[in-house]
Amino acid sequence: MSTIAFIGLGNMGSNMCANLANAGHRVNAFDLNPQSVADAVAAGAQAAVDIAKCVAGAEFVITMLPAGKHVHSVYFDTDGVLANADSTALLIDCSTIAVDEARSAAEQAKAQGFRTLDAPVSGGVAAAKAGTLTFMVGGDETDFSRANPVLSDMGQNIFHAGPSGNGQAAKTANNMLLGISMIATSEAFNLAAKLGLDAETFFNISSKASGQCWSMTSYCPAPGPVPTSPANNHYEPGFAVAMMLKDLRLAQDAAASASAAIPFGEQAERTYALLDEQGLNGKDFSVVMRHIENQ
Ligand code: NAD
Repeated sequence: MSTIAFIGLGNMGSNMCANLANAGHRVNAFDLNPQSVADAVAAGAQAAVDIAKCVAGAEFVITMLPAGKHVHSVYFDTDGVLANADSTALLIDCSTIAVDEARSAAEQAKAQGFRTLDAPVSGGVAAAKAGTLTFMVGGDETDFSRANPVLSDMGQNIFHAGPSGNGQAAKTANNMLLGISMIATSEAFNLAAKLGLDAETFFNISSKASGQCWSMTSYCPAPGPVPTSPANNHYEPGFAVAMMLKDLRLAQDAAASASAAIPFGEQAERTYALLDEQGLNGKDFSVVMRHIENQ
């Protein structure tokens, strides 16, 4: 069992931290919000009052923070991780951040003698709680092998995507696909309804035909066919419009820096931005179904 520093105990991090403690690791937990630290202690972790105390003696430092600027600040500020951790500690950032930000963090950390991995996740809060996250990991093979047992205590599918930043690259491309496919699925259900097919009938056919996709079979945006989908719960998240918009903007930035054409990704960004402007940013991203129906 290992000593692990865990920084960022929000919707995702709190559950990941609890799973590490349950697996028998010593987990030092830190968040700017003291209540989140108290909750982590109740779930089996040790309270840390600051980053220095959190990383003391840690073999792994895991961060699960809102965005790239938080990761850079937690890593590189004078009271941050690199100023206080032992350089043998492996730094694993599980936040979703820009590919360029992940690569620059890895380079800066390497220059200071630290090993890093970018390891964003897919699966959402339910998978974080159940310990069934999918990890997409960028970094050296040896560091990936070292992290694998720890990541396995929080997830089910652990993929090595290549060198630093490739985990974020996989995450950003995957979530762009998800954002587009949810709009496409909503359009298809709306068209079918306007042509006289009820949602159940169309689902039964299309889920066994070539239109089948995750947005349809696991997360159907039309109420009815998939009982667990947010469509049956007033589009409560789930995965909020605000989160999807963040990920699509990361995809746009990544595409711009790589000169990759993403016309549908750009259109998807505009669509979710419209939902955001309509005050729907806290709703599940599958609420795009309502937006399409109302046009
Ligand atoms: P969240 O806002 O619930 O949690 C972030 C936590 O970080 C908060 O508790 C906040 O207090 C803490 N924090 C911020 N700055 C800090 C600092 N300087 N030091 C210590 N703690 C600090 O966010 P979340 O939903 O847990 O998401 C975390 C990351 O995971 C994001 O990058 C998100 O894009 C990604 N993600 C989220 C989901 C999801 O469904 N929620 C799914 C996949 C990936």
